[in-house]
Amino acid sequence: MKNGSQKQGIHEGFWKKKSMSDMSRLEWEALCDGCGKCCLNKLENDETCEVHYTKIACRLLDNESCKCSQYAIRHQFVPECIVLTPKNIGEHAYWLPKTCAYYLIWKGKDLYAWHPLVSGTSNSVHEANVSVQNKTIAEFEVSEDEWEDYLWEEEV
Ligand code: SF4
Ligand code: SF4
Repeated sequence: MKNGSQKQGIHEGFWKKKSMSDMSRLEWEALCDGCGKCCLNKLENDETCEVHYTKIACRLLDNESCKCSQYAIRHQFVPECIVLTPKNIGEHAYWLPKTCAYYLIWKGKDLYAWHPLVSGTSNSVHEANVSVQNKTIAEFEVSEDEWEDYLWEEEV
């Protein structure tokens, strides 16, 4: 089946055939399911490294589309935004959402049926209730001291 991504030169099922380090830049970017979960602010216990997601989203996340509003130039505004690569995914895997496509592929698993590369539509991630769509609170509305009052209650 051809989907929108394949029209852009992405081959069907590439994530099952290529290692992460062999993926093209386009394929690597296409792996992102657009859930927006990684853009939620997190609290990390320094001693246990336990990570708790909050409902407080990064200042650049669009709550409706779940996309970064300034993706190409985001580091001008959020220098700490992490650029995930095949080389560094191992060190970041502990905090990535368990549904994140990068985490799944890194763990040797397949993508879910709701992933846009499988379903052929970017809306499927929202329809499957996997994204943060309309569930976040803007960063400027809550002081950092209060983040623990706004923990993300669902499993990530
Ligand atoms: S959690 Fe993973 S799949 Fe979801 S938006 Fe972030 S990088 Fe993309
Ligand atoms: S800068 Fe953009 S990509 Fe980075 S965490 Fe914020 S919203 Fe997400």
